[in-house]
Amino acid sequence: MSHWSIRWKWTLGNAAMLTLILCGFAGVMLVMVHRHLLRQADTALADELDELAEELRFSPTREQMLKRLDERFSVHSHYHFQITDDDGEVIFRSRFLTNILLPRPGRPSMLRGKEYSDISLPELGHFRLLTMAIRDPQSQPLLYQALSPRSALDREFRSHVWMVLTAGPLTLLVALAAGYFLAGRNLAPIGRITSTAEKISAERLDERLVIENPHDEMGRLAATLNKMFARLDRSIDEMRRFTADAAHELRSPIAVLRTETEVALRRPRSDAEYREVIAVIHAETCRLTELVDQLLTLSRHDAGLQSPLTEEVPIDALLSDVSERFQVPAQEKGVTLEIASIPAWYVLGDDVALSQLFFNLVDNAVKFTPAGGCIRLFGKSNGRTAQFVVEDTGCGIDSEHLPRLFERFYRVDPSRQQSSGGTGLGLSICKSIAETHGGSIVVESEIARGTRFLVTLPGAELSE
Ligand code: ADP
Repeated sequence: MSHWSIRWKWTLGNAAMLTLILCGFAGVMLVMVHRHLLRQADTALADELDELAEELRFSPTREQMLKRLDERFSVHSHYHFQITDDDGEVIFRSRFLTNILLPRPGRPSMLRGKEYSDISLPELGHFRLLTMAIRDPQSQPLLYQALSPRSALDREFRSHVWMVLTAGPLTLLVALAAGYFLAGRNLAPIGRITSTAEKISAERLDERLVIENPHDEMGRLAATLNKMFARLDRSIDEMRRFTADAAHELRSPIAVLRTETEVALRRPRSDAEYREVIAVIHAETCRLTELVDQLLTLSRHDAGLQSPLTEEVPIDALLSDVSERFQVPAQEKGVTLEIASIPAWYVLGDDVALSQLFFNLVDNAVKFTPAGGCIRLFGKSNGRTAQFVVEDTGCGIDSEHLPRLFERFYRVDPSRQQSSGGTGLGLSICKSIAETHGGSIVVESEIARGTRFLVTLPGAELSE
């Protein structure tokens, strides 16, 4: 059954249900029809017997009674009668019953009301028998019996049975065909979704499924698949861009290394010249190392391979360390780096990653703030989350760059940045770290006035 199509399973399931319902319905209907036919036959039999009983009232003596009965009831096409006295002696019987003795349920004096039964007479067939006790004009109890053949009743009942037996399977066949057709119609959108989805995955990810009715199940399925394709399309696109950008970034330091070594090897050089080449090679390998480290960090985050977030990291202490680390470079540039009020806040996370987040932000602030400028670190908490701000009075970022600032390899001014050693990965790593810790990072900036990075992190107040 598992290899059957849904169309056939639905059709056969419906047919099985319909068969059960039809059988139940037909059974109840036949029982009711049978009862109705029997009641009709019994009523007709009772009417006939009542008519016979009526004759009694107008016959003052038994002889007259028998005479009248003989005239009116001895021959009848359908109903036959027998009258016996209390001792079982037959005093009247239709000609049809000559030589036939009908079964006596008891003495007439013992009988109450009308009694119906089915009897079968040898070679004559089945009959419906009505037995009733009535007193004759002399008040003698007599047993009146009337019978009629069941053949008409049985024939009519059989015709009903035949009707059910032919109409039932016919209805089932029609229902089976209609069910198969309807199942096909209802499942057709799934077929269309499947073939389009196959084409989309195999050929182009930017194609989308047609949503015929967005409110029904098929429409919702197509919409969900479309969303999935869009996500897939985006991430494959991002992956392609990331790989291309990474290859591009790796090319320039490798090209420098190659050119420098090739030029150096072209002819013998002095010690000073070799030293100069080695210094360039060292600088480029440092740049390469930084780039590869950052790529590795990002790919680890993408693969969800970062360290488990179980360490209690005190952010105020962490910011003090970062600030201390940048005091000397800031002073050399003539920039003030100060740390203002920071809430005693700890985050469940990775100490090294969180340090790297703030390290990148302060590093950028020092890089992009000219002499005389100021960098401030401060924060506040609202009990459930805390916000830490790295603010500078540097060159600022044009608003057109802000929406893409956290993208991988995105640089505001690529020519200037590449020469200063930036990889364009720092802020995307910051975003990835903040999000891994259940937080977020946003930027506010104004050209020539400065930039402010706001990092929000969940956690708790440090209790003393
Ligand atoms: P990089 O490693 O090249 O610095 P980032 O991802 O850290 O790359 O930064 C991306 C871009 O954002 C940089 O090109 C830089 O122009 C800009 N930027 C980052 N921080 C600041 C800042 N504090 N002030 C001005 N520009 C900034």
